[in-house]
Amino acid sequence: SIRVRFAPSPTGYLHVGGARTALFNWLLVRREGGKMVLRIEDTDAARNTDQAMQAITDGMRWLGLDWDEGPEVGGDFGPYYQSERKEIYDRYLALLEAAGRVYTEDNGAVRFKFSRQPITIPDLVCGDINFAATEEPDMTVRRPDGGYIFHFCNVVDDLEMGITHVVRGEDHISNTWKHIDLFHAFGKEPPRYGHIPLLLNPDGSKMSKRDEGASVDGYREAGFLPQAVFNYLCLLGWTPKEDQAEIFTVNEAREWFDIGAVHHSNARFDMKKCVWVNQQHLRLLSDEALLAYALPYLEKAGLVVGELSFAAKVLNCVKEKVSLASEFPEWVHFFFREDFPYEDEVKQKLAANAQAATLAQALLDGLTQSEWDEEAIAAALPVVATEQKVKAGALMPLLRFALSGQTRGPDVKVMMILLGKPRVLARLGRLLD
Ligand code: GLU
Repeated sequence: SIRVRFAPSPTGYLHVGGARTALFNWLLVRREGGKMVLRIEDTDAARNTDQAMQAITDGMRWLGLDWDEGPEVGGDFGPYYQSERKEIYDRYLALLEAAGRVYTEDNGAVRFKFSRQPITIPDLVCGDINFAATEEPDMTVRRPDGGYIFHFCNVVDDLEMGITHVVRGEDHISNTWKHIDLFHAFGKEPPRYGHIPLLLNPDGSKMSKRDEGASVDGYREAGFLPQAVFNYLCLLGWTPKEDQAEIFTVNEAREWFDIGAVHHSNARFDMKKCVWVNQQHLRLLSDEALLAYALPYLEKAGLVVGELSFAAKVLNCVKEKVSLASEFPEWVHFFFREDFPYEDEVKQKLAANAQAATLAQALLDGLTQSEWDEEAIAAALPVVATEQKVKAGALMPLLRFALSGQTRGPDVKVMMILLGKPRVLARLGRLLD
């Protein structure tokens, strides 16, 4: 079985690129069988690791990316924070000393003697990458202040933790020969590497913290479904085979993922597509899941939801129109309160329609007699229209305005059924005031 790791440096938030790296590692190991290690590369001690850590673990949990070893869960290869592994690094440095592969400079830095051989990386994504023998100066592995540098810790940890597959961003390719050289100096075979393409903004620039969609937290706040973000992140650098859909579940991704099929070209982040993917997943939700997903947003908007079975029906009737949970309140608020506002456009249209009051009265008369089911309502409306010599198309907007105060919304007949006869009549009555 394989061992993979996600090795973020705690920066205070989980970057979407980092989340995608974690995701590809997770898919690989959950498909092949093995262990997922979470290792925190926090040698930059000035940072507040605790808080920054929370952002990483929260983000991973939200996406459903669990880890078998690491912070909070422990494991046999810890500690899983680089800041706590100094003794291990000392021990490994001694091995290199014994092998004559390091030397200390007058100013106190310890340097690693490169082998200066050509090095080939058999990359799982990019294929063989050849590096000519280096002419760079030997690499510092320990600074004069005793701190170890990234390349050294990274390699010692991968070795110590028995990592078999390293899946990480392409920005690390140019240093991988150094890592391989270190592995060989320890007398070990390096893990298999797979470098995944970078994630860019739509304009091709590198994504930074402030860019739209950069932080995993932001998706949760905006009302994305974790399974949709999971799905979208998969598509940033990987597409399932032609006969497999672009919208898939976590389990399908686990079954289908193939590290060898990851693209070589950089992936561009596209918020519109991400929203579309969310919409597709939203449509797949069961009534129960839809309720659990939307309810917090309704409550946050100050709506008193009451009977849950009613709320579930309400949500269902706008399910096809909404892309994100945060959009639900604007589509359904009038189901849950009588003091809903009338959009300016609605007010203008009502004011401009000389017939509005007459039609409202006719609707009231017609519907008062009507049984309250979809069939009876559908039969009553044309009768009113014929009597008033207007097209049904003139009645429907009036009904919509009266019932919701809005120019757009769910199907009018569905709205009428859900609101019930007394509320429909009361709202129509208001047009006569
Ligand atoms: N801490 C490194 C980073 O965040 C990880 C490098 C690696 O995965 O080997 O980029």
